[in-house]
Amino acid sequence: MLITVVGAGVAGLTTALALQERGHRVQVVAEHTGDGTTSAVAGAVWYPFRADPPELVTGWAMRTKEWLTQLAADTPAAGVDILTVREATATAEVPWWASCTPDLQRVTLPGGTGAWQFEAPRVQPGIHLEWLASQLAWPIERRRVVSLDAEPGDMVVNCTGLGARNLTGDRELQALWGQTVLVAPGEAALDAVAIDERDAERMFYSIPRRGSVVLGGCAVATEDDHSLAPVEALSADILRRASERNRTHGPVLAVRCGLRPYRTTVRLEREGRIIHNYGHGGSGFTLARGCAEQVAAMAES
Ligand SMILES: Cc1cc2nc3c(=O)[nH]c(=O)nc-3n(C[C@H](O)[C@H](O)[C@H](O)COP(=O)(O)OP(=O)(O)OC[C@H]3O[C@@H](n4cnc5c(N)ncnc54)[C@H](O)[C@@H]3O)c2cc1C
Repeated sequence: MLITVVGAGVAGLTTALALQERGHRVQVVAEHTGDGTTSAVAGAVWYPFRADPPELVTGWAMRTKEWLTQLAADTPAAGVDILTVREATATAEVPWWASCTPDLQRVTLPGGTGAWQFEAPRVQPGIHLEWLASQLAWPIERRRVVSLDAEPGDMVVNCTGLGARNLTGDRELQALWGQTVLVAPGEAALDAVAIDERDAERMFYSIPRRGSVVLGGCAVATEDDHSLAPVEALSADILRRASERNRTHGPVLAVRCGLRPYRTTVRLEREGRIIHNYGHGGSGFTLARGCAEQVAAMAES
């Protein structure tokens, strides 16, 4: 089949690769690529966050974790590494995604806080998006799509994230604004991710990359056209949250903002020749391969 995939974020590129692996001729079309996508801003650790519904998300997340874990083992150029994740929680209530993490265990952090600990893949978006694109037989076509129906191919896959609002009129999409501060590692350990959402107003995460650390953050419901200019006061607060946790890092390298494409149900459904695959909220990297394989199965059904 000839298949057009609209979108070159993690959803579009992962879907294109899964379809190509099944023998289809795939053309990715996108208005923005690489650094111009929301995907480039992500942490991007495997961790189910602000994506629904749980019964579908756990299946996609489990499959994606398996695939990313394999990439970490055999394809260093894909930009995936396995790290230890420690999530501080107020209670020992088992997380809703626990079925995806058989190694989950309760530990006590220095200072006495209880936390869930497990191993998970962390993707480095800059490397991973480029690697995904490099695996495709055909170069990405850079243009804005105005009508999915007008796109060529036996099938058209809509992986446009928040851009799906304009293309489909979807009122259920909700932009969730996030800001991160990228710092040099300094003395910070590069093998462990820290997550702490006990105070929703001052959530904190620290995600090491190869040679830097991403500190965050926030998830605030907002408009699609919310400014992506960093808020200085928030950067200062994120750095304060890091130092409150005795995190020693080097100088600030960059501050980035992005809008997570949240939906009460990830939209993964077929409408005739069109398959929608968007609305992954704060879990685009966590769900990408699982959703991509479901798209491939739908295209062939
Ligand atoms: C601060 C922050 C931290 C995050 N951390 C994590 C994390 O740790 N783990 C995780 O799993 N997820 C994380 N996420 C969420 C993740 O980034 C998103 O879920 C994911 O990037 C969505 O990917 P996407 O491919 O659907 O959308 P996008 O990356 O936005 O890509 C959309 C693509 O569609 C194209 N497009 C849109 N409209 C059109 C059009 N009309 N014509 C042509 N092309 C179009 C765009 O140009 C782009 O290429 C984070 C997000 C943010 C903002």
